[in-house]
Amino acid sequence: MRPVYATISLSALRHNLALARARAPGARVWAVVKANGYGHGLLRAVAAFDAADGFALVEVDAAARLREQGCTKPLLMIEGFFSPEELAEYSARGLVAVVHNIEQVRMLETSGLAAAPVAVYLKLNTGMNRLGFCGSKALAALERLRACASVSSIVLMTHFADADGQTGVADQLAQFRALNLDPSLPRSLANSAALLRYPETHADWVRPGIMLYGCSPFPDESAQALGLKPAMTLRSRIIAVQELQPGAPVGYGAIYTAREPMRVGIVACGYAHGYPRHAPGFNDRGTPIIVGGVRTTILGRVSMDMLAADITRIPQAGVGTEVTLWGEGLAADEVAAAAETLSYELLCALAPHVRVIEIE
Ligand SMILES: *Cc1c(COP(=O)(O)O)cnc(C)c1O
Repeated sequence: MRPVYATISLSALRHNLALARARAPGARVWAVVKANGYGHGLLRAVAAFDAADGFALVEVDAAARLREQGCTKPLLMIEGFFSPEELAEYSARGLVAVVHNIEQVRMLETSGLAAAPVAVYLKLNTGMNRLGFCGSKALAALERLRACASVSSIVLMTHFADADGQTGVADQLAQFRALNLDPSLPRSLANSAALLRYPETHADWVRPGIMLYGCSPFPDESAQALGLKPAMTLRSRIIAVQELQPGAPVGYGAIYTAREPMRVGIVACGYAHGYPRHAPGFNDRGTPIIVGGVRTTILGRVSMDMLAADITRIPQAGVGTEVTLWGEGLAADEVAAAAETLSYELLCALAPHVRVIEIE
């Protein structure tokens, strides 16, 4: 059996969804399952999030797969449709379309889908400056959607740029209110960070993603402190041990040099499996890893299928010793922070050829 594998805990996924619900009572929940359920497997995530009110994703073929698997819940398509053909599929499959540009409004107007009209989320740009309508264009788009026979219902939506950071949501909420759109329309604003930190954003539908997978959206608050449980644990084993003398380098580019006699465990996991290649393994800056239950750091550059771990102070470790790259006992957020990225990127990057074991 190949040494590298990931476990995915269904009870952790369920626990995190229940926590999201408890933190946003009264709001309905779109469980965000884009990017193959943040790397956890689309169908697996959707099955575990059975208690969600609907699922938010990006690709229409992923939505089609869910429908073919018997999923009858609402499906929110975060970037909407890209062509009249796709729009027809939205109508046929009952997909909810985010509408964020005027071309999409035009496609709806000329689609002739009145027999099976499409539910729409009108995306408002309140400061993220990625997708959506600003200012007077928002009202104009809303009026056209209201007059369009191919539209069955409208929800107002926006997305926060820094709910997880110092800026917060106040400016964007003010922008949202300043658009002065029909207050009787339902609203959906909150990602995980806003859901957890800003109850004033909960509105009618929340859209948690990362928290459902057990990671923290915040740089300054851990998943554990938030009560979240990691769902994915990436594990492998030591497949070789090297004894180093002072002055001996480790790995490609020799970016680490032993300063004392050392034991190095070679772990069967590398960037081909989704471990970040930029995770540092310098003399003065490492990345945490757990070997045989003991926390240590990686050494040298991450290779395609291997990396090195310092086991000098873990004498019981040897060939076959179990290693945790992230997950249970070592938050993906911590590994991501060391590698100057986010847990989002680590989870999504889990390679398709890594064996996955579903656990309760
Ligand atoms: C990805 C996404 C979310 C979820 O964000 P998290 O930070 O993972 O909670 C919510 N809304 C939209 C529009 C998204 O694209």
